[in-house]
Amino acid sequence: MIDLYSLNLEQLEALLAGWGEPRFRARQIWAWLYDRRVSTFEAMTNLPKPLRARLQAETTLGVLETVAEQSSYDGTVKRLYRLPDGQMIESVLMLYDDDRRTACISTQAGCAMGCVFCATGQMGFARHLTTAEIFEQAVRFACDLEAEGERLSNVVLMGMGEPFHNYEASVAAVRRLMNDLGIGARHITISTVGLVPQIRRFADEGLQVKLAISLHAATDAEREALLPVNRRWPLRELLAACAYYIERTGRRVSFEWTAIHGQNDTPEQAHALGKLLRGMLCHVNIIPLNPTGGYPYGPAAAERIQQFIAILAEYGVSATVRVRRGIDIDAGCGQLKASVLKRGRQPSST
Ligand code: SAH
Ligand code: SF4
Repeated sequence: MIDLYSLNLEQLEALLAGWGEPRFRARQIWAWLYDRRVSTFEAMTNLPKPLRARLQAETTLGVLETVAEQSSYDGTVKRLYRLPDGQMIESVLMLYDDDRRTACISTQAGCAMGCVFCATGQMGFARHLTTAEIFEQAVRFACDLEAEGERLSNVVLMGMGEPFHNYEASVAAVRRLMNDLGIGARHITISTVGLVPQIRRFADEGLQVKLAISLHAATDAEREALLPVNRRWPLRELLAACAYYIERTGRRVSFEWTAIHGQNDTPEQAHALGKLLRGMLCHVNIIPLNPTGGYPYGPAAAERIQQFIAILAEYGVSATVRVRRGIDIDAGCGQLKASVLKRGRQPSST
């Protein structure tokens, strides 16, 4: 079976030419896939019935099989998919009041980076996702939204896995999101734990995509304890790569700060961070920790976070707290898969 989402327009044209179809059919199908965003062949009403039947018999619309889905009171939808080889990944759709519809998608099954507070890191690495597997996660939400008269507006590569560890497939998927699904570069964010050579490489791609760096600590000792990758790429090298990115692209960098009670929410860390980022074209996103089974700490208190932001302001560094979405459904990275495995059954849909 040929996965239609894995083909580019030229490949789709070649497939249909091989079937003896007229040239314009490929563009018709392409429009159904990525403009009208239907998820069945029956819905492609301007195609002749025999062609629809052949598509049905010889091709598929994607490879992701939904194993579990949860919806939050705030409208967040979290999905667990099974891949053809049995691996499982998660995608999340977040709805914001300002009409943004944001898909958070995975780039790997598991992750090799081992960040101590992350449910995906606690699972270890299984494999890289293909470009089509990354891309399809966004397409699926785009189709669901389209059926309700809405449009997917943003995509963040912040699900399971480290996008820059799977650099080629992740960047190729980003290009497809832009070119095929029509998501503007400025509405796409790649989040990285801080792989320095890839940050520099990404700076040279000439894309206007947003870059987020998972910082979480402002001294090497504290960062190493949370993110093992800091031993390979310490703060000095990471910040130099960020400066290079800003210089090359003229774009602001976002720093992610998972605020952990009693760990990185102290005035000392705030001052260290202020000194580190002073004068840089950047913004700090503070996200209270989503507690996970394998890590004993909880989220920083709201007053602590406000104090942290006030200290950063003394250094001219802007920071905001990110609203936590889907907190009632474990919509943190890797948490649905962890909870399904633990219970040994599918969580009920709500
Ligand atoms: N691997 C990439 C992208 C996926 S993780 C990266 O690390 O940036 C996306 C974000 O979620 C990262 O900033 C990560 O540090 C954060 N994160 C992971 N586990 C979390 C948790 N339990 N609570 C809050 N944020 C978490
Ligand atoms: Fe991997 Fe990101 Fe989780 Fe770290 S936080 S283990 S890099 S997915």
